[in-house]
Amino acid sequence: MQNNLLLAYHPAFLEHDAGLGHPEYPDRIKAVMAALEMAPWADRIVRLEAREATQAEVSLVHLPRYVEAMRRICEKGGEFLPRMEAAVGEASYPAAMRAVGAGLTLADAVMAKEESGKWKEEETPTLTKAESGKRKEEETPPPTPPASSGEKIGFAPTRPPGHHATYDRPMGFCIFNNIAILAKYLQTKHGIGKVAIVDFDVHHGNGTEEAFWKDPTVLYVSLHTADSYPYNSGRREDSGEEAGKGFTLNVPLAPGSGDREYLAAFDRYVMPKLEEFAPEFLLVSAGFDAHFRDPLGALKLTDSGYKELARRLKAIADKYCEGRMISLLEGGYDLKGLGGGVTAYLGELIGQ
Ligand SMILES: [Zn+2]
Repeated sequence: MQNNLLLAYHPAFLEHDAGLGHPEYPDRIKAVMAALEMAPWADRIVRLEAREATQAEVSLVHLPRYVEAMRRICEKGGEFLPRMEAAVGEASYPAAMRAVGAGLTLADAVMAKEESGKWKEEETPTLTKAESGKRKEEETPPPTPPASSGEKIGFAPTRPPGHHATYDRPMGFCIFNNIAILAKYLQTKHGIGKVAIVDFDVHHGNGTEEAFWKDPTVLYVSLHTADSYPYNSGRREDSGEEAGKGFTLNVPLAPGSGDREYLAAFDRYVMPKLEEFAPEFLLVSAGFDAHFRDPLGALKLTDSGYKELARRLKAIADKYCEGRMISLLEGGYDLKGLGGGVTAYLGELIGQ
């Protein structure tokens, strides 16, 4: 089945400057946008302007004092932040607020479609048996309900990325945790109960794991290279605590693993966990640094590997989430690898 792709973007993503020669640079996003424009299915893209998140929304996950501190640091011209391994400048805070806002924009769009669908159904007059017999001749067929899987798939080429950012600190090129905030927003604003986050960036999303470590309503699943950044994080045995025990799944992979090993691990560990959890909404931390071309990652996924990943994730979204899924860009540092991976992944999601 063919679907449209909701794409939330804002040029502010290009304005954040992580420092001269930094691998997390604006051309990454330009490469993604150019690849999408060139995709044979470009006419299926529905473009949305990513709004700015509010400080209160960012504080769904982060310490409010940290959010305000980042605003002030950037406003004063910025500085190099060692834990972030990147610099921030004046444009970094507005970019970070748009990156968070992109996810929220997509959430509102996906849920609005849903809500308007329900409204239309309720508005369809229900006839009693007698009435229906009497009016049979003049009755036109009931309006077709909105396509059940139309415009429920969203993507944003978010920059800066987010999955390393913790409660009160930036980390690993990330300022605010875009995907974690989106999960909380879906729950608090749109009444979604169970959210699954699948993180296929080559690095472990320590910040996202931390945000939901004790939370049984958000399943966090990460596939990443074993013993790579952020070190001592993402171990197989780390599975959450207290009520959240069993709602974190880490799948570390040996350096050099390719499509075959990756997908085998996905089928063996991730699919059963997602089936068992049965999420109402699927979120994806979509980093493309597990691509074989990537200069930072040590895995060897190909474009067709990303396609296979997409096929599996879409099946979960269709089975449990009424097709609702949003992917946010995390890493990916080779421009060709990014463009190829993103279009293979999204093309498969929308049935192209
Ligand atoms: Zn990464």
